Amino acid sequence: MSDPKPFRYDSVPPGEKRHLRYEISETYLGDPVEVPVTVINGEHEGPTAFMTAALHGDELNGVKVLQEVAARYDPATLHGTVVCIHVANVPGYLAQQRYIPIYDLDLNRSFPGRNSANTAERMANQIYERFIGPCDVGIDFHTSTRNRTTMYHVRADVAKPEVYRLARSFGSNLVLSGEADPGSLRTVATRDGIPTITVEMGRAHRFQLPLVERALEGVESVLAEYGLLPGRPVVWPGWTRVVENASDKAWLRADAGGLVEMQYGEVPLVYEGDTICTVSDHFKKREHSVVAPFTGLIIGVLQNPVAAPGHPLCHLVSVDKKTLTEIEREIAAGEFSERPWS
Ligand SMILES: [Zn+2]
Repeated sequence: MSDPKPFRYDSVPPGEKRHLRYEISETYLGDPVEVPVTVINGEHEGPTAFMTAALHGDELNGVKVLQEVAARYDPATLHGTVVCIHVANVPGYLAQQRYIPIYDLDLNRSFPGRNSANTAERMANQIYERFIGPCDVGIDFHTSTRNRTTMYHVRADVAKPEVYRLARSFGSNLVLSGEADPGSLRTVATRDGIPTITVEMGRAHRFQLPLVERALEGVESVLAEYGLLPGRPVVWPGWTRVVENASDKAWLRADAGGLVEMQYGEVPLVYEGDTICTVSDHFKKREHSVVAPFTGLIIGVLQNPVAAPGHPLCHLVSVDKKTLTEIEREIAAGEFSERPWS
């Protein structure tokens, strides 16, 4: 395939919405592999925002978000352009698996890609040069990998003020800060001056509609923040926790093989010293407890309840005193809605 040329968003006339298919590769049969893209070019001038889903082919919540985003915004009221790349990793999506099924390549480690490299890098290059490069800001939707689930949160390098602005305006309670992997879309776009956040929401292979609704509110808030929807409110969540230090998060791992039983209650808040889960052998002769090393929120748990030593069981982030007080208040008032495993 030839070198991709940046998409000219003004080739969709102002005031129009177009659904396109853009070839990024070919199958073994030589047939085109095409990504579905919606471009909504507002009647009024403004920035260009991209949104991507299914860079990992089995992470579906974002696909549902973008189906709704593409349908709901009217170019007559939009100031700027919204670009939805509905399914980035088409071969992975067709196989309903995370990686591109050819040598299990990870599309989200392949940006910005090159046209003379492997399949994933070529696809990444077609998507990046064509659609991402000309944008001003971006949101990339993911879920947990299969057999795990994750609390709704944003990943962003908030040390960069423009990224902080984006992460804040998306309005998730929890932000995990830091650089992503070098070849991820978030890292590369942000480095190229296009502030980009990753949204992690729930499980693979599911549409979790309450999470989809929250993400749609987040999108609307971002569009308001950047002036694409002037006059709409920017939404701020109740409690917020930005986790910046490595010591404030931990993957708790199994030290023994066996059957995993989660011990925490309804809400994902645990206190230092609480038993989060146990790992027992099949004869119930031996039991290991996994204990919370600090007070915090369980933001990810395994769903496949068997483990070998070293297996990640749950992801814990610490909460500061102020956040803890607010979360405790929300729990007591019945307002706390985080249920990452439901
Ligand atoms: Zn992912």
